[in-house]
Amino acid sequence: MAYYITTPIYYVNAEPHIGHAYTTVVADVLARFHRLQGEEVRFQTGTDEHGDKVLDAAAAAGLPVKEFVDRISARFRQSWDNLDISYDNYVRTTDPAHVEVVQNILTQVHDSGNIYFGEYGGLYCYGCECFYLERDLVDGLCPDHKVAPTFLKEENYFFRMSKYQDWLIDQIKRHPDWIRPERYRNEMLAFLKEPLEDLCISRPKSRMDWGITLPFDERYVTYVWFDALINYLTGLDYPDGAAYRKFWPAQHFIAKDILKPHAIYWPTMLKAMGVEPFQNLNVHGYWQMAAGKMSKSLGNVVDPETLAGRFGIDQVRYFFLREMVFGLDAHFSEAALITRINADLANDLGNLFARSLGMAFKYRQGVVPAPGVPEPLDQEVVTAAQTMTADFLRLFPALEFSKALAGLWEFIGLLNRYIVTTAPWQLAKEPEAAARLDTVLYHLVEGLRWIAALLRPVMPASALQMSKQLGLGLALWDQPLAQVLKWGRLTPGSLLAKGPPLFPRIETEAK
Ligand SMILES: [Zn+2]
Repeated sequence: MAYYITTPIYYVNAEPHIGHAYTTVVADVLARFHRLQGEEVRFQTGTDEHGDKVLDAAAAAGLPVKEFVDRISARFRQSWDNLDISYDNYVRTTDPAHVEVVQNILTQVHDSGNIYFGEYGGLYCYGCECFYLERDLVDGLCPDHKVAPTFLKEENYFFRMSKYQDWLIDQIKRHPDWIRPERYRNEMLAFLKEPLEDLCISRPKSRMDWGITLPFDERYVTYVWFDALINYLTGLDYPDGAAYRKFWPAQHFIAKDILKPHAIYWPTMLKAMGVEPFQNLNVHGYWQMAAGKMSKSLGNVVDPETLAGRFGIDQVRYFFLREMVFGLDAHFSEAALITRINADLANDLGNLFARSLGMAFKYRQGVVPAPGVPEPLDQEVVTAAQTMTADFLRLFPALEFSKALAGLWEFIGLLNRYIVTTAPWQLAKEPEAAARLDTVLYHLVEGLRWIAALLRPVMPASALQMSKQLGLGLALWDQPLAQVLKWGRLTPGSLLAKGPPLFPRIETEAK
């Protein structure tokens, strides 16, 4: 099976922040998860590099625009490399191959009569690079920028988006999870109750020339969204590439601020091009900072690389997935991150791992013992592992990461209680309990093997460290999850290995 997953291409008018990092980490975790399911995965990210806002940002930085976009695009790429993001393809909208395909698509859509020339007067927000209707404004101001839009009248090219309104409503209604979670589907259906306007897809070069020239009128460049959305196809070498035939349609991941272009413009563009709709549009909420939504103007932007440098890459990845319910807003604070690291990772998982391996070394010289006949307590561990895994494998593709991880942590809690109840240090004192001790130690290390396997997409480096200390060979590691996750596959007699603690505690300053 082929699985094509995308992040938005990020707009290079600003540096990467944790909002971008969250989308990208979620996509990475799913890309890794599907690879572990034995699927062929293509994971794409990149940068969106045209439009007024980029021009302004380059001017503010005092750099020629191409030099500026090269610099910021490289910054994003470096951030993703530093967060262990396993993307397969990195698209830039200034790439000549992208420009060429956008122009071909424009020609095709224009030739089919779906783009026309007309005059339009309207309220234009320079920040949003788009026209607003009176009804979209809040107290006469742009809802995002809180500034009064400017009345602008000019001749432009328009995409006949209105023509596809009924088709789009029907498409959304017939595929209940096409746009998910449901709140965003409902938001779009509500939006579509009003008549859909045609989309202005050009900008006169006399006003702004940093964009892709319209193939049928040199006086204009393409509206940045019409150019940017097409990256999802150009990255697959549309229309003739083998990658396109294999991987389309896509699983798109976005933050809710770009819902409308993805849920309205993009499917109608695809429809006009005669291309099958995307598979799903998966929409997440915002990280709320102490002073409200994170934004550059509020000065509360968190740099994801700095965060990962201070607290650890896997720690930040785990926090993202565990703390935010996909689709809803969540609160970000360093205190919350430190609590997760110290409680979930250092205490619950880290201690379980260190204690279990410590006892296996102390009592069995680091050799995995052969289990004896299981007692009900041991059977409970096996059943819990199987139930938790079935839930995890169902919840993960349904984007319920937080719930999946909470279930995994319940299993970690169960193993911690199992240690207390079985008291291996007591069994070690009684020679006649040797077989019983073997059974208990086996259930602990085998349980840890399952935990490591399931955590692999979320915390790749830590899971690998666990696999090394558990002495797992390739057959118990580099195989599809369904084969790895069978109880009892950890071979008695195999050797465990000593290693550093998985998750050091973060010491907070004493007050
Ligand atoms: Zn605006």
